[in-house]
Amino acid sequence: MSFHRNERVCVISLDGVPGSLVEEAFASGRLAPLRALWAQGAAVPLRSTIPPISSVAWATYATGVAPGTHGIYGFVDRDPWTMRERLPTSWDLAAPTLWDRLGQVGGRAAVVNLPLTYPARPIVGWLVAGFPAPDLARAAYPEALARDLVKGGYVVDPDPALVAEPERFFAEVRRSLDCQRRVALRLVREDWNLFHFHIMVTDRVNHFFFRSRKPDGPQHRGFWAAYERVAEAVSEVVDALPEGTELLLLSDHGFADARWEVDLNAHLVEAGLLQLGDGGVGLSRVKPGSAAYSLTPGRVYLLRRGRERDGWIAPDDGDRWLARVEAALRELKVPDGAPAVADVLAGADVYRGPRASLGPDLVVLPVPGVELRGRWDGGPVFRPSPRQGGHTLDGAFLWTRGREAQPGTILDVPPTAWALLGLPVPGEFEGQPLVRP
Ligand SMILES: [Zn+2]
Repeated sequence: MSFHRNERVCVISLDGVPGSLVEEAFASGRLAPLRALWAQGAAVPLRSTIPPISSVAWATYATGVAPGTHGIYGFVDRDPWTMRERLPTSWDLAAPTLWDRLGQVGGRAAVVNLPLTYPARPIVGWLVAGFPAPDLARAAYPEALARDLVKGGYVVDPDPALVAEPERFFAEVRRSLDCQRRVALRLVREDWNLFHFHIMVTDRVNHFFFRSRKPDGPQHRGFWAAYERVAEAVSEVVDALPEGTELLLLSDHGFADARWEVDLNAHLVEAGLLQLGDGGVGLSRVKPGSAAYSLTPGRVYLLRRGRERDGWIAPDDGDRWLARVEAALRELKVPDGAPAVADVLAGADVYRGPRASLGPDLVVLPVPGVELRGRWDGGPVFRPSPRQGGHTLDGAFLWTRGREAQPGTILDVPPTAWALLGLPVPGEFEGQPLVRP
């Protein structure tokens, strides 16, 4: 075994932070602690997953394999046979995690706040789960750590309902970040080989207050105060790292100003491809005879015979219906006449692997400024976006200390970490190392 116990890699992730936002902040004198660190390395663009959302991106990072193998396609998924929605958890990951793999070769990991790690599964090391984590008692491993979270009033994620009162929301952002920073500072002093500290509040602040990054934004001070605190937390954790630790910073998707929210189910209803019944909730409202339905963000499924309850589209007919639904999706325009859709991809082209059949038949990629939803309330196709920012496929970054990396995708980060740990890259990993060790 070529693994040396003294090899250490630290990964700090900033959810939804575009590389350009960081560089612009530095240029205007902000985020000084992060800027000092940034100068010790170099950043390259990193492409997100399809769809570009945190649960899929971080499941891909956590396993080194794509959705067709790990089986996670969103924060919400569906059971086609009962037509019920469900929330995937850490137990739905159909591939070993980096921390599982490390444990198998005699290494230890400490993982703080990464999405889709709840409930906390036993690992060789320490794990504090990230969003969504409804029960703190099951949000950490070992159990003593979970008891400390409960006792300390740990906040996993700021309550989005507080957004109506920005001061309270930003106070909660700060409280949540401080809880996570304290845990990270405690665990960083343990004896680990892979340390991962995830910061989620950046994604929350971006969704609700992205316009306030600009000087005329109403929450300009609150927005940047939250980012300054993030920069401090990152720099405190980095300062506590043992000498010689390899360091990566990254984000999982970009962000853009959101203008329109588009309900793809309402559009499918208008196009005569979906009928919603009056009874039931969510997905169960899909009426027999419908051709297609959508789950957030931009995942579209046919009512296939033998797969969906009431599915009737025969295998031979699948391509014809896919073409019809795709044509209806491509013609979507926002109310000012501009296209809403950048591309429609066939699931069969995007997803390969043992869990590919769980994925959507089509994936819609919106133009920047459009947020895709799969709602069930029979509302309008378009509404002005209630949120200020939305995810983008491009715009994320990977920063490496003292090294030059190549641009890549989030799938390339695990082999990069493995190369820096001096470990042979497992054949199951589907990406390539972006640095030479
Ligand atoms: Zn987000």
